[in-house]
Amino acid sequence: MERKNVWKTYGEEELAELEQVNRDYREFLDKGKTERECVKGSIAIAKAAGYADLNDVIVQKKTLSAGDKVYLSYMDKSLVLFHIGTRPIEEGLNILGAHIDSPRLDIKQNPLYEDTELAYLDTHYYGGIKKYQWVTIPLAIHGVVAKTDGSLVNIVIGEDENDPVVFISDLLIHLAQTQLEKKGAKVVEGEDLNIIVGNIPLKNEEKGAVKKNILKLIKEKYDIEEEDFLSAELEVVPAGRAREAGMDKSMILAYGQDDRVCAYTSLAAMVSMEQVERTACTLLVDKEEIGSVGATGMKSKFFENTLAELLDRMGVYSELTLRRVLANSKMLSSDVSAAYDPTYSSVFEKKNAAYFSKGIVINKFTGSRGKSSSNDANAEYLGEIRRIFETHNVAYQTAELGKVDQGGGGTIAYIMALYGMNVIDSGVAVLNMHAPHEAVSKADVYEAKKAYVAFISE
Ligand code: MN
Ligand code: MN
Repeated sequence: MERKNVWKTYGEEELAELEQVNRDYREFLDKGKTERECVKGSIAIAKAAGYADLNDVIVQKKTLSAGDKVYLSYMDKSLVLFHIGTRPIEEGLNILGAHIDSPRLDIKQNPLYEDTELAYLDTHYYGGIKKYQWVTIPLAIHGVVAKTDGSLVNIVIGEDENDPVVFISDLLIHLAQTQLEKKGAKVVEGEDLNIIVGNIPLKNEEKGAVKKNILKLIKEKYDIEEEDFLSAELEVVPAGRAREAGMDKSMILAYGQDDRVCAYTSLAAMVSMEQVERTACTLLVDKEEIGSVGATGMKSKFFENTLAELLDRMGVYSELTLRRVLANSKMLSSDVSAAYDPTYSSVFEKKNAAYFSKGIVINKFTGSRGKSSSNDANAEYLGEIRRIFETHNVAYQTAELGKVDQGGGGTIAYIMALYGMNVIDSGVAVLNMHAPHEAVSKADVYEAKKAYVAFISE
């Protein structure tokens, strides 16, 4: 079952389209390095495509019907979009679901300290990371500080050309003999991921003068006090923009592509629809990387509640209708797959691996060991997805996440499957997943968007 390298199949027109999709995608990545920034950017895209805020619709007691497009932002960290179809909604939704949180370092609640006249911010990592990858690289701080007066201060440090970046030190090779004898997981430990933020002492101060100077700076620039860190969500991410990669510019190298590559292509597909038969829905959710927990994670009831609100505005709400809509829905859990890496071939099983530039990847199941914690999609549903992709000329491949018993991973698929709907994982193959900079093939980004358009137009 060899799959073609899709670059060979494109004509000039398709190549131009592919480049456009990828330019827009890079812009999306640059504007959204946190879940909050992604929600903000996605709302702007949705509004431009005629989507209205569902909260306004509810307040104004408007009714919704076929052709209407609405979105709902949940706590500014998750987003639901609906495009109402011409067929009865009880027949179910076509859902695209991706996550917009990515592995990173979160700044602790009591983070600021000084040691030997260096000021530091202490961090707690979020999601699965190889800690040694995060030292010595330019880092940026993105996030919000919630003050006790109810105001929210937005912070981005390290992205503008004129901004300073921050960083974590690593031991020089000359003195690293003992360090390098440690196992990979311990070479750099979680508690040692301390961001260096300054070295100039405040004049006429003796103790903690460097820390005091930093506090003075943030007071001047953001009007925040040390205590305000207690109610902040500050995320430390690699600084800099998404870049084209490879001498042939075939790839994109950027932070946070798991899972913003699927989030962007799902959103782009969703807003490109003129009209849909089955009601289309796109979900961009938070907290996948830490188990889909919390009020804004997929395990929260926010999606079900939002759908109930939609049905109510359509004048068809009942508990039974809600259950039917959910059970009759079909979903592509749009999440990334591990791309086959020839340098680390021993962890992959070549027949069942995902490859760069061979199209969108379908995972019948994820999970680990004996398919534990996976959503094992139905064969019938896979057959239907194959038909959809084939009719719409979408390049696709199927894969498992590495060799049996080598490890594993999960997505939001199994959570949505709890409603009794058909769900399958499908997304873009990524090299060096969860590293500060991840790589994808531009051809796969393009095929993913095509696949999502095909899925919601069926
Ligand atoms: Mn993911
Ligand atoms: Mn992930």
